[in-house]
Amino acid sequence: MTVDSPVGSNAAILSVRDLSKHFSGIHALENVTADISRGRMHGLIGPNGSGKSTFFNLVSGVLPPSAGSIRLNGEDISAAGAIKIAKQGVARTFQGGLIVPTLSCIENTMLGFGSHLRWPLISAMFRLPIRAERQEREARERARALLEIVGLEDQSERWAGELVWVQRQQLQIARAMASEPSLLLLDEPTAGMGAAETEEIEAIIRRINESGVTIMLVSHDVDLVARLSDDITVLMYGEKISEGKPGEVLADPRVQEAYLGA
Ligand code: ADP
Ligand code: MG
Repeated sequence: MTVDSPVGSNAAILSVRDLSKHFSGIHALENVTADISRGRMHGLIGPNGSGKSTFFNLVSGVLPPSAGSIRLNGEDISAAGAIKIAKQGVARTFQGGLIVPTLSCIENTMLGFGSHLRWPLISAMFRLPIRAERQEREARERARALLEIVGLEDQSERWAGELVWVQRQQLQIARAMASEPSLLLLDEPTAGMGAAETEEIEAIIRRINESGVTIMLVSHDVDLVARLSDDITVLMYGEKISEGKPGEVLADPRVQEAYLGA
């Protein structure tokens, strides 16, 4: 008997059940249930304000859910908080790009390391005597390797504040990868970019996914999401209105209506 591989809790790295988030009357997310398969690329789309960033905020522990559950590798992380969830292998980038402009690219990347590798950076920031030269060297080498993955190896000593927009997004991805995540959440990584820059980011995302990292991708660029994703979930007014393979989802009348109506 042939059975399509079920998207059950065993295959899923992330499972959310009846997930809701309310902000004083606003139903940002309402009873969303979804499974994210291990190793895949999963797109999350929907019109502006449909709850995509809120979904990421809940899964990464930045905000607590109002109701429902979030399981990572089968373990309930609904109330775990951002630090614990990051330690368990979830990393993210932020819509709009969160970098420290007065630190170099390599130092921004080092901010993504666990405390042991972050120490040399902290000691440098506060002009403390360097206690562990070997640790510092190791951290910088690892950060440089991450910058290479995102194509910023030539910029490692530049202040992040000097980077152009696409490079800031590349840097955010390098920092997110510094924690060696098993699940990477990318929120609008190509916002405001032209075709050439989008292609550059697309190639980086693809490479990271091929290296075994499960990726959830939020983007207003439906074509980009369709090209990259194995599966797509569509939100509208906080509710899931469609889910499946890119071709099925884009052909779904509910999805077409959601985008035309937006
Ligand atoms: P998307 O990322 O899909 O554009 P969001 O998740 O950012 O949508 O927002 C979904 C809804 O929740 C919007 O109506 C937004 O204004 C609201 N919202 C999001 N975050 C907050 C917050 N921290 N406080 C109040 N309302 C919020
Ligand atoms: Mg958003």
